[in-house]
Amino acid sequence: MIIFVKVKLKHIFTKGKNYCWPRPELCLRCNASHLWGHGYVASYFDGFDQPFYLKRYRCPACGCVIKLKPAGYLKRFQAPIDTIRSSIHCRLKKGCWLPGASRSRQNHWFKALLRKVKAYFGDPWDRQLLSAFDLLIAQGQNPVSRSI
Ligand SMILES: [Zn+2]
Repeated sequence: MIIFVKVKLKHIFTKGKNYCWPRPELCLRCNASHLWGHGYVASYFDGFDQPFYLKRYRCPACGCVIKLKPAGYLKRFQAPIDTIRSSIHCRLKKGCWLPGASRSRQNHWFKALLRKVKAYFGDPWDRQLLSAFDLLIAQGQNPVSRSI
């Protein structure tokens, strides 16, 4: 499981494993308290060529592993949500991709969003892609993942 935490990426990057992550008070699965540290997992984010070390905790009661991830990112995505949204906005309004980001990734995001919006909301929504993007984010969904 993932808990999204409001942190500054640069602080995590510069402090590495010495960064003072918050400790969740309860297990997300069974509500047990006293979670144990469970090491770190290396993760990459756009704009940084070295991995970040994201803190993990483990619940001794149920075995659930909880990873802390910076807020503003989607599960399994290295680009910030804002960048993904800007890419889709640029494609819709100007017909081109956002400068400075991989065109193939942006194409992937756009096609995945189209597919997801049609699956979730039906055809009328494909003319309101940014609204659908925001709605899916608000619902805790990943609007640009391949899974439906
Ligand atoms: Zn638990």
